[in-house]
Amino acid sequence: MNLYEYSGKEIFRKFQIPVPDGYVITSAAELKPYTSPVVVKSQVLIGGRGKSGGIKFAKDQASLDQAVKDLMGSKVRGFTVNKLLIEQMLDIKKEFYLSITLNRSERKPMLICSASGGVEIETVPEEQIFRKSIDPITGYSDFIGREAAKFMKFDENLSKQLRSILSKLYDVFVHYDCELVEINPLVMNGDGRLIAADAKVIIDSDSTYRHPEFPKDDPERTPLELEAQSKGYAFVELDGIIGVIANGAGLTMATLDALLLHKGKPRNFLDLGGTDSTDIVVEAFDLVLKAKPRAILVNIFGGVTKCDTVASGIVEAKKKFGISQHIVVRLSGVRENEGREILKQNGIDAFSEMMPAVEKVVSLAGGA
Ligand code: GDP
Ligand code: MG
Repeated sequence: MNLYEYSGKEIFRKFQIPVPDGYVITSAAELKPYTSPVVVKSQVLIGGRGKSGGIKFAKDQASLDQAVKDLMGSKVRGFTVNKLLIEQMLDIKKEFYLSITLNRSERKPMLICSASGGVEIETVPEEQIFRKSIDPITGYSDFIGREAAKFMKFDENLSKQLRSILSKLYDVFVHYDCELVEINPLVMNGDGRLIAADAKVIIDSDSTYRHPEFPKDDPERTPLELEAQSKGYAFVELDGIIGVIANGAGLTMATLDALLLHKGKPRNFLDLGGTDSTDIVVEAFDLVLKAKPRAILVNIFGGVTKCDTVASGIVEAKKKFGISQHIVVRLSGVRENEGREILKQNGIDAFSEMMPAVEKVVSLAGGA
């Protein structure tokens, strides 16, 4: 679960990591009268807002009103802006990068920092990045911060501030079960203070029950994805035209890859999972049909999910929903001959290999 910048900064404030003063508005009516220079920041769950015009600076009432008018309800990189963070403008002297993330191969939190901040860390040359794993048993220790400060060529004053921030950032990371806490940029203000000008916090979705203060409805999910989620399906909407029903996350991903390889554009990811019920198959069709695909590919490797069950489900769905789109099926594995027979009786030929099925559905769906 990805938190908005203002939520991340609320957490930072609670943990005494310095952040600029500010407040959130959801409409122009909530705007307070102008008193000093402010930054108006679109609250969307995507980075690079600065470069995409999602952040505006105001030095008087008129420009503040204009910035709010321009940004509220606008789209920043495809995301609609419903909230704005109005924040006291910083006098930025230098921008740094700071984050703690999970190093999955070492199974440890990892501190990343760089004196080159304000740009995506992926674009910073490797030799300018400091990385250090933190042993979760002993936790963060000051020597790690000293090493980081030395790497960043900080003087004692900056080093002290950095270490204080790092220690609290690590507490945030642990307390909120984070996958990532990122401050980019961490800025040095005109008065020499280090301040978090941005905040990105990603909480492990499996731990959200431990943090009920955050809203459950993930704003990153579409209504159809939320419906699928509530019914227990792993389902993701994509922007293509071919509906996909497969079983197992791996096979489903491979199906999407195979479609793309043949210049087919998948409309969705749907993993049937291990099931032996025709109802599940019918319900999966219901979800995929709501995404209005031009053709549907069913790719099943039978095991727990038996091919004949899926075949019966397909026939049932076809009758129930009066599906007009082409359905291309690949069946392989447990009870595949029985499954193929059921489909054949209902006028559907099933492939036993994946690639011919993929080629077929791509040609039936036609171009974009
Ligand atoms: P992002 O582009 O979505 O990552 O949004 P950020 O919050 O990181 O802001 C992008 C850039 O805007 C920063 O790197 C700064 O250069 C600039 N910026 C943000 N806040 C301020 C501010 O208070 N004062 C000044 N002068 N620049 C700011
Ligand atoms: Mg940023």
